[in-house]
Amino acid sequence: MTTSGATRTSSFASRWFSRIPRRVREGGAGIAALFYPPQCAACGIPVPWGTVLCAACEGRLPQGTGPRCERCGDVLDDEQVDLCLRCGTRLRGFDRAISLGPYDGGWRTLIALFKFDREKAVGRWLGLRLADAAGASFRELACVTHVPMTRAERKARGGNPSQELARVVARRLRIPERALLEKTRTTRPQRSLPARERAVNLRGAFRGVRSGTGAVLLVDDLLTTGATADECGRALKSAGYGAIYVLTVVRA
Ligand SMILES: [Zn+2]
Ligand SMILES: [Zn+2]
Repeated sequence: MTTSGATRTSSFASRWFSRIPRRVREGGAGIAALFYPPQCAACGIPVPWGTVLCAACEGRLPQGTGPRCERCGDVLDDEQVDLCLRCGTRLRGFDRAISLGPYDGGWRTLIALFKFDREKAVGRWLGLRLADAAGASFRELACVTHVPMTRAERKARGGNPSQELARVVARRLRIPERALLEKTRTTRPQRSLPARERAVNLRGAFRGVRSGTGAVLLVDDLLTTGATADECGRALKSAGYGAIYVLTVVRA
């Protein structure tokens, strides 16, 4: 019998969170919270506040290995080239994209807890790791921004995960988080579409709402084909911004 990733993830989540009263989960650390120390999202052992994985499980988070595309970070089949087929054959809307790891193993669990179960503590933990990666890779950023959603999409999702991550990154790096884009129409979920339809689904869906200059860091949870990053990057460049760097938790 096979178990899907989603089923496994929700059992992790329910095991972890069903033992914590709702008022504690949603209201932060009250007196009751003292009696329910957080547990590692993967193995269940107690962990310090503000932590979502124990040191052993964090050490087991998969790392991307092998040659990577210099621009988008995709895995390269051919070690002799610097760019993947997508970046080598068409103009991209961003200058460079990096991620913390592949969409696999513990990363997949963390994304599900944050994005679908809306666990704020996981978002904060991921945001701090993104800030460390940004600080090590990108210099002289003018600001941090996020991928916008329409009002209907925000309501359906219970917030904007990209914006929540961007806020943590900006605060940690001590640079402003600015809403530089708006989404002009609701689009179909990218994950429901084959790669060739993703760019079409998003074409013209983002518009700059604030012009400016300098390098921008666009933060999101997941980069797949990069169609979202392309569209947002093009809108930011049209609004005057220079280098567009993309930072995501995972690369699928
Ligand atoms: Zn653990
Ligand atoms: Zn590439």
